[in-house]
Amino acid sequence: MLDNSRLRIAMQKSGRLSDESKKLLAQCGIKINLQEQRLIAFAENMPIDILRVRDDDIPGLVIDGVVDIGIVGENVLEEEVLDRQAEGEDPQFIKLRALDFGGCRLSIAAPRDFEYSGPECLNDLRIATTYPHLLRRYLAQYNVTFKTCLLNGSVEVAPRAGLADVICDLVSSGATLEANGLKEIEVIYKSKACLIQRQGDMSPIKQALIDKIMTRIQGVIQARE
Ligand code: ATP
Ligand code: ZN
Repeated sequence: MLDNSRLRIAMQKSGRLSDESKKLLAQCGIKINLQEQRLIAFAENMPIDILRVRDDDIPGLVIDGVVDIGIVGENVLEEEVLDRQAEGEDPQFIKLRALDFGGCRLSIAAPRDFEYSGPECLNDLRIATTYPHLLRRYLAQYNVTFKTCLLNGSVEVAPRAGLADVICDLVSSGATLEANGLKEIEVIYKSKACLIQRQGDMSPIKQALIDKIMTRIQGVIQARE
């Protein structure tokens, strides 16, 4: 049986957000003993369970109320919301705050020799991406339609492999694009990590714990600025 009395927080198991997420919780005074292969970790000094999953699963876990809190990139969150809306759902959650890590941008990139003069050039092209909804929303503003090539990884090799004309992928320094003979032509979404809470009633104990964590996060982030 699931223990509903403990606050459940979902964070990325291993990837670009995991170290910073772990550090933030530790700096908030939550003592967690993370064992590499374990899905769940228990805090030693507070009634908190940490669920370590793929980042893509975090928005759904919060929206579905499986966990109370999630730390996830706004890009992944927004894509999940658009995906659920496209399915006719009305996904609900509370955005507690933006965090000071995980900064990146979702950009369209094309082969270096591609002549780009604006979004209209992309009409009817095939675009490789993990974020079809964010891309569609952006290009719809310009009445541009496109064909998708859905990939969950290695998006940047798609043009070279002949799978797509251009790509829409996350960029931070641009070094990966450069290494793959691509140039950034359009920034479509700017993202960072954020903290979200499930909708619905929270027991007084959990609410007090969330309030305490939020105050501590505020202090931690302010001290870093
Ligand atoms: P998982 O195995 O959990 O699904 P992943 O490979 O999908 O991991 P990561 O590459 O670890 O995901 O990225 C997680 C998040 O980190 C991204 O969704 C984004 O919010 C953020 N991020 C920050 N900089 C970058 C970057 N340069 N490239 C990709 N993601 C970045
Ligand atoms: Zn992922």
